[in-house]
Amino acid sequence: MSLYEERFDVVLSKIEKVRLRVNQHQIIKIIAVSKSVDADAIKKMYAIGQRAFGENRVQDLKIKTQTLDDLPLEWHFIGRLQTNKINQLIDLEPALMHSCDSLQMACELDNRLSVKEKSMDVLLQINSAYEEQKAGVLPEKALETYEQILLTCKHINLKGVMSIGAHVQEEKIVQKSFETTYKIFEKLSDKGAIHCSMGMSSDFELAVACGANMLRIGSTLFH
Ligand SMILES: *Cc1c(COP(=O)(O)O)cnc(C)c1O
Repeated sequence: MSLYEERFDVVLSKIEKVRLRVNQHQIIKIIAVSKSVDADAIKKMYAIGQRAFGENRVQDLKIKTQTLDDLPLEWHFIGRLQTNKINQLIDLEPALMHSCDSLQMACELDNRLSVKEKSMDVLLQINSAYEEQKAGVLPEKALETYEQILLTCKHINLKGVMSIGAHVQEEKIVQKSFETTYKIFEKLSDKGAIHCSMGMSSDFELAVACGANMLRIGSTLFH
């Protein structure tokens, strides 16, 4: 086994352990967050079967999609989107944009999509940890914002929600932030929400326990 396979195996077993305990019918998708590695590392991860990768900067996404153009990869955008990068992101046609963090961002994205006669699959980012440095709508506003985007942004296909767990040591607090997001996700299930994207290297097991079905894992897989 290669080093990558070994690391991947460890992550998979940890996920499986929790998943079988919580909900054995749940299918969980792993997005390998490649923001801190080069194309070569992505190729190695591809070689052991990983197809979905996540980047948090439009410029990096562009370079990596171009470099790895010959591989059938699925690209996810997970970072803060600057208004002046919207057109570039649309042209890169990501499989899923995880980080739409306001109605205003959705409307700007929708306008540009409309001009280009394109659409995009998008998640609404929720700041369920109530952390000032984090992007996202507050939990109290999430349902309302989700419905407003559904109503007004015809070129955006809303597919669910995304959160970054609370940035603290106490597991209880991280858990609470995941539970907050999951409750919102459940309420949106009759409005087309199918992805609940939460959990990173430090907290993916907890995220699975709280109902996440899409994990964004970087450092633990690559370093
Ligand atoms: C970097 C990043 C991740 C992955 O973080 P790791 O701790 O490396 O697993 C997940 N989500 C977002 C939004 C990120 O920016």
